[in-house]
Amino acid sequence: MLTYYQETGDASLRFAPLDERAEVDTVIVGGGFAGLATAMSLLDRGAKDCMLLEAETIGFGASGRNGGFVSGGFSLEAEKLQRQRGHDEARRLYLMSEDAVRRIRQRIEHHEIDCDVVPGGVIVASWFNEDSSLRELQALMREGFDLHWNWLPREQLRELLCTDRYHAGLHELDAFHFNPLKYAQGKARALRDGGVRLHESTRVRRIARNGAGWRVATHAHDVDCRQVAVCCGGYVDGLCRELSRGTLPIATYVMATEPLGDRLREAMRTSAAVFDTRFAFDYYRPLPDTRLLWGGRMSTRERSSKEVARLLYGDLLRVYPQLRGVAVTHAWSGLMSYARHSMPVIGALSDGLWYAIGFGGHGVAPTTMGGEVLAQAMTGEAPIPGGLMAYRLQPTFGKLGLAAAQLTYWGLQARDALLEWRHR
Ligand SMILES: Cc1cc2nc3c(=O)[nH]c(=O)nc-3n(C[C@H](O)[C@H](O)[C@H](O)COP(=O)(O)OP(=O)(O)OC[C@H]3O[C@@H](n4cnc5c(N)ncnc54)[C@H](O)[C@@H]3O)c2cc1C
Repeated sequence: MLTYYQETGDASLRFAPLDERAEVDTVIVGGGFAGLATAMSLLDRGAKDCMLLEAETIGFGASGRNGGFVSGGFSLEAEKLQRQRGHDEARRLYLMSEDAVRRIRQRIEHHEIDCDVVPGGVIVASWFNEDSSLRELQALMREGFDLHWNWLPREQLRELLCTDRYHAGLHELDAFHFNPLKYAQGKARALRDGGVRLHESTRVRRIARNGAGWRVATHAHDVDCRQVAVCCGGYVDGLCRELSRGTLPIATYVMATEPLGDRLREAMRTSAAVFDTRFAFDYYRPLPDTRLLWGGRMSTRERSSKEVARLLYGDLLRVYPQLRGVAVTHAWSGLMSYARHSMPVIGALSDGLWYAIGFGGHGVAPTTMGGEVLAQAMTGEAPIPGGLMAYRLQPTFGKLGLAAAQLTYWGLQARDALLEWRHR
């Protein structure tokens, strides 16, 4: 089954596989948001002799399958970021991610990327019958980062989201949502027009030293270059041992309903995207053609479309029982890349061998930030900020780490259920 995004994206946009030996200044491995953003930030700095290699198609990974929420912040919660880094450094990092949201908007405008932008903001809805955690989050945003998220009391929220599930909400108006695959494809088009060479169906097999530079071996041909950036997210597999050992691939699921027409208003009377306050939260948004796109759950394995549809349909009905009977037309999985600390890891494994990985489940803005940071470091403009350097690659212990991640997720799901019962 195609994803909703594959069905609505530009199927005619294709980049030929690499068909000859090449020599360039910079090779970027991975055509997701991290790779595309790095290439774009290099191009913005006049670095044209750049080649981007993608094993499948542009946006094949998490970047072309995600929920489409574009907002500041990281997979690591803002409160933990502040506790770990202190007020000033956390503020610097958080505001860098907010800058990235603005940069995405500018790029959409500048490159005239048609990607179904919906400027309705994002609502975080409280699943639990208590106000304090949302109030604390609102205060943290205001006092820590000068960001003003509007309070939505229960009655007001109930007018926007027709469900008894939620108790209050916060509305982050500066956020938006979009079709991520169309955005990835639009960026790829802009890179091509700017002179970057892009090749799909070109899997990099090995990266090895070659004199002062690097040899990037693909399944067919080699590329010699001065520097390489590895941006392979949860799909890095065995390409770089240090990156595979330092991150875990974690799956999450998305589905789209049939177009709901007027029935959409039985559930949602807002164009905002929504997620809730559980650790194992639902996230969803209305699509321009009145479908509902619904995502949630994490697992150490990808599932069949049928299984994803069954699980998420059950989650949808828990919140909106009035939508019983709507058809699910698309359902898919995607892999996120998580470091143990849930922050992106950006740096160099060795002179000229760069990486940006570990963007987790909140990566649209952070990958754009990562691309900017990496391009600054690669061109010698500025070193990677110390606040980010503090988040390094740490061993994740392969299969054992995956088993531990799954157990942690189930434990936190149980905690969600306990909190729900306690605050009922
Ligand atoms: C289902 C889902 C929903 C999400 N929802 C949101 C959301 O709403 N908002 C948000 O901010 N974040 C969300 N995220 C997270 C976000 O999508 C990711 O953090 C981000 O897209 C990661 O980008 P990336 O470029 O690092 O990785 P990817 O997008 O996975 O790209 C990596 C690319 O590298 C390629 N590759 C791998 N190995 C090789 C190789 N050897 N040679 C060549 N190419 C290779 C892959 O084919 C892939 O295209 C979601 C993630 C998923 C999976």
